Amino acid sequence: METFFAGNYDVIVVGAGHAGVEAALASARMNKKTLMLTINLDSIAMMPCNPSIGGTGKGHLVREIDALGGEMGINIDKTFIQSKMLNTAKGPAVHSLRAQADKVKYHIEMKKVVENCPLLDVKQAEVSEIIIEDYKVKGVITTIGSIYHGKAVVLATGTYLGGKIFIGSAVFQSGPNGLAPSLKLTDNLKTNAIDLRRFKTGTPARVNSRTLNYDKMQREDGDQKIVPFSFLNDQLDIEQVPCWLTYTNTTTHTIIETNFHRSALFSGEIEGTGPRYCPSIEDKINRFSDKNRHQLFIEPEGLDTNEMYVQGMSTSMPEDVQLAFMRTIPGLENVEIMRPAYAIEYDCIDPTQLKLSLEFKNIDGLFSAGQFNGSSGYEEAAAQGLIAGINAVLKIDNKEPFILDRSEAYIGVLIDDLVTKGTEEPYRMMTSRSEYRLLLRQDNADLRLTEKAYQIGLASKERYDKVVHKVQAIKEEMERIENTLIKAKDINPFLLENGSSELRDSITIANLLKRPEIFYDMINQFDINRPDLREDIWKQCEISIKYQGYIEKQLRQVEKFKSLENKKIIDINYNDVEGLRIEARQKLKAIQPNSVGQASRISGVSPADISVLLVYMDYKRRSKNV
Ligand SMILES: Cc1cc2nc3c(=O)[nH]c(=O)nc-3n(C[C@H](O)[C@H](O)[C@H](O)COP(=O)(O)OP(=O)(O)OC[C@H]3O[C@@H](n4cnc5c(N)ncnc54)[C@H](O)[C@@H]3O)c2cc1C
Repeated sequence: METFFAGNYDVIVVGAGHAGVEAALASARMNKKTLMLTINLDSIAMMPCNPSIGGTGKGHLVREIDALGGEMGINIDKTFIQSKMLNTAKGPAVHSLRAQADKVKYHIEMKKVVENCPLLDVKQAEVSEIIIEDYKVKGVITTIGSIYHGKAVVLATGTYLGGKIFIGSAVFQSGPNGLAPSLKLTDNLKTNAIDLRRFKTGTPARVNSRTLNYDKMQREDGDQKIVPFSFLNDQLDIEQVPCWLTYTNTTTHTIIETNFHRSALFSGEIEGTGPRYCPSIEDKINRFSDKNRHQLFIEPEGLDTNEMYVQGMSTSMPEDVQLAFMRTIPGLENVEIMRPAYAIEYDCIDPTQLKLSLEFKNIDGLFSAGQFNGSSGYEEAAAQGLIAGINAVLKIDNKEPFILDRSEAYIGVLIDDLVTKGTEEPYRMMTSRSEYRLLLRQDNADLRLTEKAYQIGLASKERYDKVVHKVQAIKEEMERIENTLIKAKDINPFLLENGSSELRDSITIANLLKRPEIFYDMINQFDINRPDLREDIWKQCEISIKYQGYIEKQLRQVEKFKSLENKKIIDINYNDVEGLRIEARQKLKAIQPNSVGQASRISGVSPADISVLLVYMDYKRRSKNV
């Protein structure tokens, strides 16, 4: 193949999915000359699966991406068609924003952003080779012979690498949505000692809206009051569209059970490991055979299309079976399939080959993000892309990597879980994965992260100033409500009406808010000098007061966590550490943890091993000082 030198860049990003766009934008916005390559420009920020951004745990990631200066939150605020805050009946730690997206508009808006970003070139090309010399990355080569040199490369190839589609016994090489797969890069990565494995995921059919009977389904509307994903937006108002709730039934289940043998999943055709928390319908019926119905949400894919997404029904059954079992579902009796459901298998890495910066341990300057790291989901991909892009830049500038730990962000939990513990299936974020979820709420991501991103030159001045103002406003309001008294005689009738006990003496607003049944927006009539504050400001005050005890407890736990996290491990030859068990020595050598805290989370490393390690580190420190 003829080759030609096509250009020099600081950072080259392979992939323009949710990970690739965040990596490329972060790099260019931190003033690096950046190239983003994708097999097809029409797949920039494509949503090959569910038409929504956010949800439990995922909404937290989107808010953190936004607080750091990423694009996903801003883009969904421009293109959503329905918005809902989930879990509002529970505590603020699990409140999670979820927005239905107009998929095509989401793609178009993101494409506009990357095409108009200074210092960023976007090109359509398939990378077939990473140029690596002496374990250091030098650039990439495309399938048409273009050679691009770069000081750092970010791999974000998603579900395309070695992409293989399964629909019953129909098996063929393809990327998602009928797009071309990437078939050459895998071999090149393997020759560079990168371990790859096969994962799989699946998506449900898209059906034609005009063949549905909505009278037989339950309408699900969005929230009246919309909470924006981006902290740059104070309020949003659109005419929202509904989703629809329906259920499978025993007839549906019987058709699926009698065709288990025709599912690629059960016929053994698929070798890749699938996501436990997004199971296919045949998997659900097999695993939960006691259940006589499973809920399904019929979700619009956009305003200018009839395509409807059947959430909860991903499958790799043949098309005739898909049609047969869907026509047993209330509202889908006459359904027509526009795109059949399918499963896709693809190559991805074992993420324990990566450092917490998402750089490969054995290849200098090569970073990796997204589904290719073994995660699943737009939000998980975007979060990793952002961090990989930032760290590619900091690497080039010989600066310390930008690492968020488990007590600072869900992004820290995500990356630490992947690179320290690894994953045997596509990893999906959930609030239950965080030990400190009361501190890592989606409502305070800006207070936790924006200043950090401003200091490394990613978050804008506008964003930073907004947070500085918010911190000041919260401080002033806390002082005010801790010192503002309400007279018992004025509020007692109201308290009795609201099932709250009477007061004998005056009470500060802060103490009043400690009562679980009393909320800030309920008592404004008694709080005459109340300033006109944005909801996101007074909510912070309310949460800090109502959860004070729990928050203080978690802060103490974080202090303990930090004490081990700050014990950095530098240049330790684990063969020299006497008393370590064999398994622990092997695991520590493989993972190369950067702190005692990270070492303590490696599976197979026991607390006893950590004590041995601490004694050894202490001995080394003292012998150095002698
Ligand atoms: C069928 C299907 C079902 C899914 N189901 C779920 C689910 O149930 N739940 C869930 O959370 N997530 C699901 N997902 C996952 C979700 O789509 C991905 O997590 C997300 O898109 C990953 O983003 P990414 O940026 O890592 O990769 P992608 O969005 O896949 O983007 C990869 C990019 O890399 C480019 N690329 C690949 N190879 C090369 C190359 N050699 N050269 C140049 N460019 C290249 C592609 O063109 C593309 O731009 C599903 C995805 C698919 C396809």
